Amino acid sequence: MNPENYVAEHVKSLPRSGIRDFFAIVSEMPQAISLGIGEPDFVTPWKIREASIFALEKGKTSYTDNRGLLSLRKEISSYVASFFGPEYDPQSEVLVTVGVSEAIDIALRAILNPGDKVLYLEPCYVSYAPSVSLAHGVAIPVGTDSEHSFSLEPESFEKAWQPGCKVLLLNFPTNPTGGTADRIKLERLAKFAVEKDLIVISDEIYAELTYEGEHVSIAQLPGMKERTILLHGFSKGFAMTGFRVGFACGPEWLIEAMMKIHQYCMMCAPILSQEAAVEALKNGTEDVLEMRDQYQNRRDFIVRRFNEMGLGCHVPRGSFYAFPSVKSFGLNEVDFCHRLLREQEVAVVPGTAFGTHGEGHVRASFSTSYEKLVEAADRIECFVNSLSEENVSAQAV
Ligand code: PLP
Repeated sequence: MNPENYVAEHVKSLPRSGIRDFFAIVSEMPQAISLGIGEPDFVTPWKIREASIFALEKGKTSYTDNRGLLSLRKEISSYVASFFGPEYDPQSEVLVTVGVSEAIDIALRAILNPGDKVLYLEPCYVSYAPSVSLAHGVAIPVGTDSEHSFSLEPESFEKAWQPGCKVLLLNFPTNPTGGTADRIKLERLAKFAVEKDLIVISDEIYAELTYEGEHVSIAQLPGMKERTILLHGFSKGFAMTGFRVGFACGPEWLIEAMMKIHQYCMMCAPILSQEAAVEALKNGTEDVLEMRDQYQNRRDFIVRRFNEMGLGCHVPRGSFYAFPSVKSFGLNEVDFCHRLLREQEVAVVPGTAFGTHGEGHVRASFSTSYEKLVEAADRIECFVNSLSEENVSAQAV
């Protein structure tokens, strides 16, 4: 049997995630400090874990309603109304998913016909372009740049629009750049979405981790609730990556279309995770704020150190990623990461893992302890100093 003949063409042409290969190497290096992982270093707050344990003790081991526990959908509805603005009916406008990952996938599959186009910001979360391809859509990246701190520039979307565009896929605060979007820019983008009759998929998974200004959801702007799917989850703000639970809120007809796929491919999110999520929304806010304050301290430290050592770095306004430039050291971002890992045992991710617009940058996650960040910063500084010395010697020859 020739495997070549049995893997679907659109799957064959998908690239493997660059991050995965890199971290296979890191996992073999016990002394390495990893600033590469996109997940909180905090363990899920105890009361949330306990809610899951209690549910297990009570024998809650069944499937749930395909849409998720009604108790959770009600909590989601009131949390979203207070944190993001719009009100959603827990019966018909909320769907509990297996993380935001599933929600992105089923939203795209529910909307796209083959060849439909999706506009999205780049650099971006690694799954966006592959998810569009898997839904037989066409991914149209719209670049952001370091001069504007990788923030949203609505004109870039207006320029990139072309016939066949059906979806605007947004992510604020942004992985990997920490960019955010202010109300004025979002209003302009909302106007564009209405004019071009686009559906907006808004991935706001880092919303609680906003350090400057308030988080504004595009779903709360006039005329947007009826054309927006708001995606959020528990992985980042609540430090619950392993629970695999997220949700989508949107107009009934879109949630219903996503539900059709969800019920056949997932059935429902795990019940123990849903019980934990109820507790997170009821009583977890203070824990989230405490974690956020710690991320902010770490951010201020690592961004200052990067700039002092010559790795130009804008201040990420949200998420837990710094995205410094490595352009002045004569190495491309991939070589920079490999040599840094080999020579100083610190792992950061090449910016191009997040699309071509990440060229010349690396992503360093500050979701690691302050002490480890200090040690990592010292090692990175040693490395960039050695690069500068190499460059001086090369010029002298
Ligand atoms: N969206 C973004 C922007 C992310 O960075 C991630 C994870 O890194 C996800 C979605 C996936 O989240 P989840 O764990 O809820 O599937």
